[in-house]
Amino acid sequence: MKEMERLAPRRETITVMAGKLAIGSSHPVVVQSMTNTDSADPEATLAQIEQLASAGCELVRVAVPGKKAAARLGEIVDHSPLPVVADIHFNYRLALAALEAGVAKLRINPGNIGGADKVKVLAREASALSVPIRIGVNSGSLEQELLESHGGPTAKALAASALGHCKLLEDEGFGDILVSIKASDVPTTVLANREFAAVRNYPIHLGITEAGTLIRGTVNSAAGIGILLAEGIGDTLRVSLTADPVEEIDVAWKILAALGTRRRGVEIISCPTCGRTEVDLIGLAERVERLLLPVEQPITVAVMGCVVNGPGEARQADFGIAAGKGNGVVFHAGEQVSRVPESELVEELLRVIERETGVVIPRE
Ligand code: SF4
Repeated sequence: MKEMERLAPRRETITVMAGKLAIGSSHPVVVQSMTNTDSADPEATLAQIEQLASAGCELVRVAVPGKKAAARLGEIVDHSPLPVVADIHFNYRLALAALEAGVAKLRINPGNIGGADKVKVLAREASALSVPIRIGVNSGSLEQELLESHGGPTAKALAASALGHCKLLEDEGFGDILVSIKASDVPTTVLANREFAAVRNYPIHLGITEAGTLIRGTVNSAAGIGILLAEGIGDTLRVSLTADPVEEIDVAWKILAALGTRRRGVEIISCPTCGRTEVDLIGLAERVERLLLPVEQPITVAVMGCVVNGPGEARQADFGIAAGKGNGVVFHAGEQVSRVPESELVEELLRVIERETGVVIPRE
């Protein structure tokens, strides 16, 4: 496949460790998600974590809303294939319980856990266990005084909130920090993250909060996360969708692939179809994408609808097909490999991919 142009270099950050997972500018951008099962039900939560891990999730956040969930957190941590981040609000005792349960990271805002003495205890315990803390600033829960002084949840107010929370930890000598600043609209999120990124070198977790249902959330996340990644800002990301969390992982990887940041699995390039198309190209592309879903190798497969632009595009991908009336050609590494009847095109493509990559692709 042809090399993609490089976007801006990553903004330099410190490295923090979430268990064995390194996060920061010297490491690949990490894909994460959050479970939506009852956290007090380890079986259901672990089943979802397994699904997320299979889809390519690398770090998983679990809400710990109360004592019941905190009491079962250890079981989740012990059996999770992914490092677990405990998401806690207001209650520093829950945070201490999460540390005891062995979580890899805490997501908590030091400004809302009950005062400086509680921050001190938490910073000391997290530091002793080498557990980093993610400060998560969200436009929906900004401090009242910042809302008043900035006239609402503006980008500057969000960045100021993040800096304020950082300072509480920094004052305790704690620097193992990550930060996320999320608004539900793209411009505010982008501006706030730029503002923060200019003054601190902590890794940044990207996301658009309450981004929406599958299509709307995907577009919002791709725009917001994409702008920041293109500027070199961002070390982990979560695509928040009102959908099955597994969908978040798929979208996250597609955003990373689109920017040339990271690749996982097959990327399908398919033409938009036009008056020249003489096959059911939409059905063909969907079938190829579905069949290649289990393939983890980062390969590009072009599915093109005619012999005008088709062969040219197909040649630039690792593999490709260009379908014409009644038959089509299969490409590999820029060379035409075979010409077969239309009915055999998909099977021939799969055969060529299997031969060249060694993977076995299950048929429908
Ligand atoms: Fe039309 Fe061919 Fe381009 Fe597809 S590849 S959009 S069929 S010209």
